[in-house]
Amino acid sequence: MKSEYLETMPDKNGYFGKFGGSFIPPILEKPFEDIKNAYEQLKKSPEFIDELKYVRKHYQGRPTPISFAKNLTNYCGGAKIYLKREDLNHTGAHKLNHCMAEVILAKHLGKKKVIAETGAGQHGVALATAAAYFGLECEIHMGEVDIAKEHPNVIRMKILGAKIIPATHGLKTLKEAVDSAFESYVSQVEDSIYCIGSVVGPHPFPMMVRDFQSIIGIESKEQFKEHENKNPDNVVACVGGGSNAMGIFAGFIDDTDVNLIGVEPMGKGEKIGEHSASLTYGEEGVMHGFNSIMLKDKEGEPAPVYSIGSGIDYPSVGPEHAYLNESGRTKVGLCDDKEAIDAFYKLSQLEGIIPALESAHAVAYAMKLAKTLPSDKTILVNLSGRGDKDIDFIVENHPIPNTKF
Ligand SMILES: *Cc1c(COP(=O)(O)O)cnc(C)c1O
Repeated sequence: MKSEYLETMPDKNGYFGKFGGSFIPPILEKPFEDIKNAYEQLKKSPEFIDELKYVRKHYQGRPTPISFAKNLTNYCGGAKIYLKREDLNHTGAHKLNHCMAEVILAKHLGKKKVIAETGAGQHGVALATAAAYFGLECEIHMGEVDIAKEHPNVIRMKILGAKIIPATHGLKTLKEAVDSAFESYVSQVEDSIYCIGSVVGPHPFPMMVRDFQSIIGIESKEQFKEHENKNPDNVVACVGGGSNAMGIFAGFIDDTDVNLIGVEPMGKGEKIGEHSASLTYGEEGVMHGFNSIMLKDKEGEPAPVYSIGSGIDYPSVGPEHAYLNESGRTKVGLCDDKEAIDAFYKLSQLEGIIPALESAHAVAYAMKLAKTLPSDKTILVNLSGRGDKDIDFIVENHPIPNTKF
């Protein structure tokens, strides 16, 4: 797939317009330069491309299918809803797409250890999996609140051989886990590499993670034609840092007749601390080494954020999303906790697919959108992950509905 956009964005300094870049302490300048150079070299290397193709096909289980959600479509009435099934990717979410590639890169650089943060635990599980497969050590930083909420993933990471380090400061969720992982990386930069879990962080990570995730969009473009013999009219994905969204958007970015919609979590309400809708309520600022749109408190520091989806409660967003949103190429959709829980149960009971709470935000938005469109229109939802990790939390807090839809 040739795309002029993907080949020219970001620029050589990692900027998407004014967003992106690299704001890092001097001690990290050389390691990030090494990562960038290694990636530039690897992406042109036939061995790297072949190795990635091999693991995707024979280990991850790609390509993942696109399913037509017939019952959900009938229930909503209106546009046809299709699902790109990243829940069927090994480890149950899209994250392995970039983790396998990041660990190949780490190996290429001669590193012994991979370090990362995790929110819902999906990135941690994916990275621990990739590290096990390629024989590297793995250190995962996770907020204490998320450790309590995402117990099954914590156990999975431990079984896979990863070391878990709890982030105990502040709100004890994703942002604090990133702070903690960065600090640890700085102290052992010779032997390790920081594997960022989304299209965020300093250059080259937003570009690299997008490129690794673009397999979702490349597959989708071909597969959707099998169903409808044309492009989808709308592509919908939830946005935390924005990697699953950028992955699927990448396949359609040059097709300007395809609406690309990133869904942000409205959580419990509009006040600061109740949501994590960065693009909707944020302003320009630098956090975690890159310039983007972020939610700030009164002091200009990263604001507290919340969403029922632990993987999407992040106070900033990938710089490419900030750019594409400002340029108008992508649009933002909103979904609150209540709508996400409703979509979680509807998709489970109507389609036999238990979605991750993060992905349920995209499903909920698609359900609202479908109702406003005629039946010859189509919506492709990126179902970023499966919901096994969320089942204990959700049944305890939001009882299973006993109505038949
Ligand atoms: C991590 C995660 C997300 C959010 O991350 P993005 O980088 O925004 O894609 C969404 N869905 C699932 C299932 C996740 O694990």
